Amino acid sequence: MNEEFDVLIVGAGPAGSFAAERLALGGARVALFDGRPEGEPKACGGGVTAKALKAWPHLLDAVGRTVRELELYSPSGQRLHLKLDEPFAIYSRIAFDSYLRDRAQAAGAEVVSQKISARAISRTANGWSVQDASGATWSTKFLVAADGANSGIAKKLAGPLAAADMEVAFGYRAPLPEKAEAPTVVAFLPRWVGYAWAFPRLDHISFGIATTQEDFDHKALDELMWQFMVGYYQQRENIKAKMWSNVDTDAARAIEKNLRATAERYAARIPGLADKTWDKRRASGENWALLGDAAGFADPVTGEGIYYALRSAELFAAAFLEERPEEYEARWRKDFGGELRRASQMRRRFYGNFWGAPFTERMIEFARGHRGIKKVLGDLVAGEQGYVDLKRKLARKVLRPI
Ligand SMILES: Cc1cc2nc3c(=O)[nH]c(=O)nc-3n(C[C@H](O)[C@H](O)[C@H](O)COP(=O)(O)OP(=O)(O)OC[C@H]3O[C@@H](n4cnc5c(N)ncnc54)[C@H](O)[C@@H]3O)c2cc1C
Repeated sequence: MNEEFDVLIVGAGPAGSFAAERLALGGARVALFDGRPEGEPKACGGGVTAKALKAWPHLLDAVGRTVRELELYSPSGQRLHLKLDEPFAIYSRIAFDSYLRDRAQAAGAEVVSQKISARAISRTANGWSVQDASGATWSTKFLVAADGANSGIAKKLAGPLAAADMEVAFGYRAPLPEKAEAPTVVAFLPRWVGYAWAFPRLDHISFGIATTQEDFDHKALDELMWQFMVGYYQQRENIKAKMWSNVDTDAARAIEKNLRATAERYAARIPGLADKTWDKRRASGENWALLGDAAGFADPVTGEGIYYALRSAELFAAAFLEERPEEYEARWRKDFGGELRRASQMRRRFYGNFWGAPFTERMIEFARGHRGIKKVLGDLVAGEQGYVDLKRKLARKVLRPI
């Protein structure tokens, strides 16, 4: 073989598949590689914000669940029920990723189930030569790395990221409660940066905690995760459990025992670039570009990365098809780079104090008694409210009558 491709993309997650689809539809010859074993899901909550669903309404055709109500908990366990004006969606990543990959293939991209090692990539006079795990060699003019948060290709092309540029998320996939509805929950952690979630999907619940890699203490956070999960099922069984403290009865212990026998653990990293890294780090160079997590594009406050994976794919594909791939760098910076950089600056403050208590505690406390603040929170969940003016907006609402 030695077929020449215009673009070879490593990684068929949301970023790689969406870029492949756009490029192929625009007439480029595209090869899309992924080494994930069939049926193995990418560790992810699978939450896709209203902002993303509005930008790409076809995502609603992927099999998932639409979420119209959300339970939010403060670090002390105060509860806030939010009815969302703009629903978001929760997908199983197997369903979401195959949906996007099938669209790329239907658009004309050649999809190859092979892993590509960074060591097997070398420059040629016309671009790149790439050897896949089976030993076959592929030639391409342009190389795109969309191989996720642990991207070996990004490390080779743009350099490694420090621990301070990473977040960690871990959790469990567990069965849906048998007798009760399964609410969607986000709970801000007591004493830690980050939050826990319960995202029910069609056939299971994804539980997880996202926090910073620097502060990660596995034992303490795993205990917190179990308190959260057991509390969640106890509440479904009408046991009066609080969010961060379980009830100790026979029925409660049976719930935990059952959960320990069925829950499957997962863990993975999410990029959460530090403020200064945004200025230094490049996501493109001569005949190469990085997309999505491989480029570090996730919200450092929430760990949300699917929107940025899709948006970076869209921006790159447009620049490439206009024969100006070098403009991708300036375009992502202008489009969402500033917003993510500001989110990095806000991370400590978001999880810091505000009027004598954790900001997240105050936010939920105020929202419980104030429609305007509830609305701001709804917009935050929808992906429509930035962090920069969040505190100012909340403070203004608090001081203003309902
Ligand atoms: C636990 C957890 C929960 C999360 N929850 C959410 C959430 O609810 N909402 C949200 O928006 N974001 C969430 N994120 C972040 C989100 O998962 C990522 O931002 C998003 O998946 C990035 O998409 P991507 O296409 O860039 O990379 P990925 O989705 O990671 O896709 C990369 C692809 O590359 C493939 N690959 C990797 N290496 C190679 C190789 N060497 N050769 C070939 N193929 C390779 C992988 O198999 C994978 O399919 C979460 C992350 C974690 C870890």
